[in-house]
Amino acid sequence: MRFNYWQDFMSLVFPETCCICKRSLFPFENQLCRFCIARLPRTDYHLLPEDNDLKNKVLGLAPVSKVISYLRFSKNGMSQKILHHIKYKNKPFLARRLGYMYGDLLNEHGYDNCWDALVPVPLHAKKRKARGYNQSEELALGMAESLALPCRSLLIREIPTQSQTNKNRKERWENVSDVFTVSLPKQVLDQRLLIVDDVMTTGATLAACALAIQQYEPESIDFAVLAAGK
Ligand SMILES: [Zn+2]
Repeated sequence: MRFNYWQDFMSLVFPETCCICKRSLFPFENQLCRFCIARLPRTDYHLLPEDNDLKNKVLGLAPVSKVISYLRFSKNGMSQKILHHIKYKNKPFLARRLGYMYGDLLNEHGYDNCWDALVPVPLHAKKRKARGYNQSEELALGMAESLALPCRSLLIREIPTQSQTNKNRKERWENVSDVFTVSLPKQVLDQRLLIVDDVMTTGATLAACALAIQQYEPESIDFAVLAAGK
């Protein structure tokens, strides 16, 4: 490792801290300390991507092949803390770092030639402007970098939607079923696309994205999220 004395000096004066446990980070660490990385609640969905409970959620809603999640969501658990940070605490680099780590894991498991492009689930323009970034796009950019794939913002969220949090399955679907359109239809034809979002609950948002894309005849559509729960 090349010594960067200025960076080392700055890290003494303004030490970066781990987003989760607040421990001071070493200069070679990025967003998360090694202890928190070791205890991330990773899943095994990548080992059975076409036959799992996440896929069952979207069967019948949208044409999709693989559905995978990096982390297991649990209320008040580590993944919920991470989602809160990347959505509300101005931590786009945490999302990108986790996306990169997920891409690395997928590379190790033979996903290196699985897709032609990654497509983040968009925020509505007003929300994006207020937040300053789209956490799903940051995740997708991190994954795209480690998978050496393009990240294409093909989707537009035309209608600002209400929070999905207190809605049941049917209400969630009605809330998002027609809010997405495709801005670049020519970039969909015959492509193997991976739609990326931060979290999956009922799968309604991802399914709505897939239906918007499907009419332009991609070869396949898969889903990947940072965290999902049963
Ligand atoms: Zn930590």
